[in-house]
Amino acid sequence: MDSKVPKGPLADQWTNHKNHIELVNPSNKRNIDIIVVGTGLAGGSAAASLAELGYNVKTFCYQDSPRRAHSIAAQGGVNAAKNYQGDGDSVYRLFYDTVKGGDYRSRESNVYRLAQVSTNIIDQCVAQGVPFAREYGGLLDNRSFGGVLVSRTFYAKGQTGQQLLLGAYAAMNRQIQRGKIKSFTRHEMLDMVLVDGKARGIIARDLVTGEIERHSAHAVVLATGGYGNLFFLSTYCMGANVMAAWRAHRRGAFMANPCFTQIHPTCIPVSGDHQSKLTLMSESLRNDGRIWVPAKLEDAQAIREGKLKPTQLKEEDRDYYLERRYPAFGNLVPRDVASRAAKERCDEGFGVNKTGEAVYLDFDAAIMRYGKEKALTSGMKDADDTKVRELGEQVVEAKYGNLFDMYQKIVDQNPYKTPMMIYPAVHYTMGGLWVDYNLQTTIPGCYAAGEANFSDHGANRLGASALMQGLADGYFVLPYTIGDYLSDDIRTGAIPTDSPEFDAAEADTRTRLDKLMSGKGTHSVDYYHKKLGKIMWNKCGMSRNAKELQEAIDEIAELRADFWENVRVPGTANTKNQELEKAGRVADFLELGELFAKDALTREESCGGHFREEYQTPEGEALRDDENFKFVSAWEYKGEPKDAILHKEDLVYDNIELKTRSYK
Ligand SMILES: Cc1cc2nc3c(=O)[nH]c(=O)nc-3n(C[C@H](O)[C@H](O)[C@H](O)COP(=O)(O)OP(=O)(O)OC[C@H]3O[C@@H](n4cnc5c(N)ncnc54)[C@H](O)[C@@H]3O)c2cc1C
Repeated sequence: MDSKVPKGPLADQWTNHKNHIELVNPSNKRNIDIIVVGTGLAGGSAAASLAELGYNVKTFCYQDSPRRAHSIAAQGGVNAAKNYQGDGDSVYRLFYDTVKGGDYRSRESNVYRLAQVSTNIIDQCVAQGVPFAREYGGLLDNRSFGGVLVSRTFYAKGQTGQQLLLGAYAAMNRQIQRGKIKSFTRHEMLDMVLVDGKARGIIARDLVTGEIERHSAHAVVLATGGYGNLFFLSTYCMGANVMAAWRAHRRGAFMANPCFTQIHPTCIPVSGDHQSKLTLMSESLRNDGRIWVPAKLEDAQAIREGKLKPTQLKEEDRDYYLERRYPAFGNLVPRDVASRAAKERCDEGFGVNKTGEAVYLDFDAAIMRYGKEKALTSGMKDADDTKVRELGEQVVEAKYGNLFDMYQKIVDQNPYKTPMMIYPAVHYTMGGLWVDYNLQTTIPGCYAAGEANFSDHGANRLGASALMQGLADGYFVLPYTIGDYLSDDIRTGAIPTDSPEFDAAEADTRTRLDKLMSGKGTHSVDYYHKKLGKIMWNKCGMSRNAKELQEAIDEIAELRADFWENVRVPGTANTKNQELEKAGRVADFLELGELFAKDALTREESCGGHFREEYQTPEGEALRDDENFKFVSAWEYKGEPKDAILHKEDLVYDNIELKTRSYK
């Protein structure tokens, strides 16, 4: 695996690389076409920047507008090493925290670059008019996220993704109006076309008319998001899928670390089998919310039976288990640590909802603390508890109001008056298409950006670092690195779509659609998706072991065979057909799921979000094996997932000492 990491000291690598890679002159850029599939934060920022540079860009998304990409859901914020708080932050510290957070399973050079350009992201977005929260004096405000000891997260209430996406979308719109971006909405990429081994286009389906289309370009960027919906229930948008990345994988792009999944500790718990979606309660809430369960089993049972209320429990009868186990980081431990700790308490019988799978996130202490401060600064020296509480609730509402409203609407309980109930849920996938330092996959001319690639986060993404990475890739990395590749294409001319390669790819796509439509069975697509999700959650979820992973591999292979025999997709392929869209996505999940389990089985260590029960310390913490598993696993497609071949990119840590990942 050639990661193409530049030589030289870490801090100079990116600058030196930019100084020495090939450039395309402005007039030649006008002769070069780039396809960007996906217009979330990664794709939107890439498309706008590439078009601004002068390339001809075609964008594709399956939603009716780029503005509706899953990125819009991001709540908590985006990290940057600005050190506005003067609390000791620096590029090195952001780099260090991210590598440590990823449990030493990410590429040093990429992460260092990410930390370096993080500061540019904030300037770029402010210039676009993104309304980041500000302090009283007008400076940008920050808050803290898990796994770090500084405040470096920039935010716009609980709607950071939405505001950032509006910025990127506005930048795209400028280019659409200039004619430099041609935007294809309600279009789904169904295959990638290679000519002479290079990515030269895609086959897409117009989701409104059902028409199959060919689109060519000199390079293809996949910014198609993560694949957490593999688990059926997740915090992802309903449409999120792996199709584009998986189609590229089938054409030669290696899939890296597919089993690295982030389980977010603060989501609204599952309430029953009727659900198709889980809701995140932003990590920012852990700045002020304290996580606890009853200290006594009988109290937990009484709460579950509705005989006792959490607010009736005295302080000494509560177990603030994160503060107890991890005093240094407390409630702000990384997500994998907080998730496993919640599971451990619930498995021991301390869960607080009917299913026994929920813990409390309590704002009472914060409300009283803020209330007292507000009373004092408002000149109310003798404010009573009721007044203090009222003032405190106002402060908490200003910080997290939309999240509290969302919780109340879903759970029908008032989180200002009673603690929220939360439980871990699938939230992000660190795995994805393998890319080198230039963000190029193993297919020349095929690039991957944002959550679709595997880069930067190792085994555990820390909060507020996905937006940072997607925007770094799109605004600040790809626009440079893609030119290095395209400089060879200045004389190539437009890529024809009437070539045998396009004929073959289109024929493959039509055959696959026909096959999906021809099933005569009785089961819906969701029937299979739910079954797959249950296997994934139960056997490849928060903790994994060899026996269950092997069972998962067998069960998924069986389920996939049954799917192709017995799935029923109503309607036709040449019209709008949402069941057909879902069927194509689930068919790919059924392959990815098996590779996921195989990857998890192969990695005989625990690291970050990948917790193998066989490999843990006596205190139940993840036990890494740096001697044998300090690598990125990159899988090559060879037909059935069971035949996939493992390649290893060895990770080199020259600048960070490999340590036990302690948050105590
Ligand atoms: C509820 C929630 C809250 C979050 N909060 C935060 C946060 O506070 N901070 C943070 O850093 N991260 C957060 N994240 C994670 C972060 O939002 C995502 O990782 C990030 O937005 C992904 O951006 P992206 O551009 O890579 O992909 P996406 O935004 O998922 O965009 C994918 C794009 O690809 C398109 N697409 C996909 N497949 C195809 C196809 N086959 N053909 C055509 N188009 C296709 C889609 O239409 C879409 O345009 C959160 C995630 C969730 C679920």
